[in-house]
Amino acid sequence: MAHLTQRLSQNVSGDFFVDSTCIDCDTCRWMTPDVFHRAGEQSAVYHQPENEVERLRAMQALLACPTASIGTIEKPRDIKDAQQSFPILVAENVYHCGYHSENSYGAASYLIVRPEGNILVDSPRFAPPLVKRLEEMGEIRYMYLTHRDDVTDHHKFRKHFGCDRILHTDEISADTRDVEIQLSGSNPVQLTLDLLIIPVPGHTKGHTVLLYNNKFLFTGDHLAWSDELKQLIAFRNACWYSWPEQLKSMRQLGNYAFEWVLPGHGRRYHADLETMRNQMQQCVAWMETN
Ligand code: SF4
Repeated sequence: MAHLTQRLSQNVSGDFFVDSTCIDCDTCRWMTPDVFHRAGEQSAVYHQPENEVERLRAMQALLACPTASIGTIEKPRDIKDAQQSFPILVAENVYHCGYHSENSYGAASYLIVRPEGNILVDSPRFAPPLVKRLEEMGEIRYMYLTHRDDVTDHHKFRKHFGCDRILHTDEISADTRDVEIQLSGSNPVQLTLDLLIIPVPGHTKGHTVLLYNNKFLFTGDHLAWSDELKQLIAFRNACWYSWPEQLKSMRQLGNYAFEWVLPGHGRRYHADLETMRNQMQQCVAWMETN
């Protein structure tokens, strides 16, 4: 839990606060922008929750924070309600898991609920309240991992749920060598009728993205929305393999139709097909000059 003795001075007075252990992962700011903002190189509370909705959203950010840097002065009596609110619905049958992990620098993970078996997209923290909620929501058939950075507690999820993990062979390390389904090559893989895995080398060599139902694109660290630039971007300063390769991957990705971009880092984006197509073209043009 966050410590009051380490409370950042930039917090406005009141119950919620951020302490000095914040790693500036951005999670609380995009989850609950009405309460948290950036203050220097960290986050701080700039507006204390004033109603039940704001309070729940602040509590969700508290639980999602990968470093437990958000705290309350009063012991929160509504913690169970907040725990019960995860995973948080994004749209249709797609959910945000919350419970981000410091091991993945606070990357977001997702749950797709399907009659054929649910799918975890990247790894949240193996937190007991989340695990209980995932159990209630059905069998987990696959744990799809976009790339090596966001695998966090994959062993624990595999052991508990028996799900088959999926990762490209170029992302395999000593920690992931026992992954059940290891993809290879650069061709898309149709896992099931509704699930297409698309290799997008660039951020890392074996990075892939997952297209679900030709609508939801889970992009890991390949593609995200920037609130600052008001457009889709790739992370030039966090490109560990090859920027030219990532640009090539982005051009190819622009040939697919989707309406949602759901990233590990960065902000999510939703638009109709035509707007998304235009945004992808703009992203490619921006990458060509960066
Ligand atoms: S979620 Fe936690 S670590 Fe991330 S920016 Fe907010 S307070 Fe900092």
